[in-house]
Amino acid sequence: MIRTRFAPSPNGLLHLGHAYAAVVAHDLARARDGEFLLRIEDIDGTRSRAELVDEILADLRWLGLGWDGDVVFQSGRLASYGAAGERLKAMGLLYPCTCTRADIAAAATETGPDGLVYPGTCRGRSVDPANAAWRLDMARAAQLAGPLEWTDEVAGVQRARPELFGDVVLLRKEAPASYHLAATLDDAADGITLVTRGLDLFAASHVHRLLQTLLGLPVPVWHHHPLLVESDGRKLAKRRGSPALADLRRAGEDGHALADRLRAGRLPAGISLGGGVIGIP
Ligand code: GLU
Ligand code: ZN
Repeated sequence: MIRTRFAPSPNGLLHLGHAYAAVVAHDLARARDGEFLLRIEDIDGTRSRAELVDEILADLRWLGLGWDGDVVFQSGRLASYGAAGERLKAMGLLYPCTCTRADIAAAATETGPDGLVYPGTCRGRSVDPANAAWRLDMARAAQLAGPLEWTDEVAGVQRARPELFGDVVLLRKEAPASYHLAATLDDAADGITLVTRGLDLFAASHVHRLLQTLLGLPVPVWHHHPLLVESDGRKLAKRRGSPALADLRRAGEDGHALADRLRAGRLPAGISLGGGVIGIP
């Protein structure tokens, strides 16, 4: 049985791009008699806002996208993130880093899928772990794991290239886990067999695939979908005027009809579905 999920971060109201992502995850599950889960990614303490969760649930109901089982909250899973972090530390794969953004900007020489690649400043240094972030020693981790592949059902089989990201942060100073660690652990804990999300996170799957092997987790299949973009090709963002679903809902728009228009690719003026990016062979 397949199981998909929609995993919004409650740090802003959902917009049409989120509605599209939720429709994709929901419909892929329903089309194959599978399950569709809802997971709230609420561990970014500085940006997460509890009051937005009710809005998200109301938006999904309004769109006609029912989920199976209880809503999962990442904030209820902190112990599992800590335990995985300890395990990776015991394997000698994490090191503490106290660099600021400015330190990294000054020393970085490469850019990866998430922006500047960490230049490795604290690797092999003795750093006080109090108030440090913990980074994955990517070269060591990749060597331990050996060559890996993963499958996107749209783009095909991919050779995992986590090294593109350099030494990513897995445990953060201000949050218990980074997106990469929390999402990977949760997808396994939730029994997700088909990870659906936007193409903007395609490259992140290289890192997630590595973490699955390091932590002995099951390997799902991925489905990265195109993003809704504005006429300048940039992805929708609420701050650039894309209406919030909550506003459309309160204005009395028909959410089921909106979901059907998204399914049919009938998008509001000025918005289109961006091109599909095919993975790196
Ligand atoms: N919480 C992430 C977001 O809102 C989604 C992560 C995922 O689907 O893996 O962009
Ligand atoms: Zn550092």
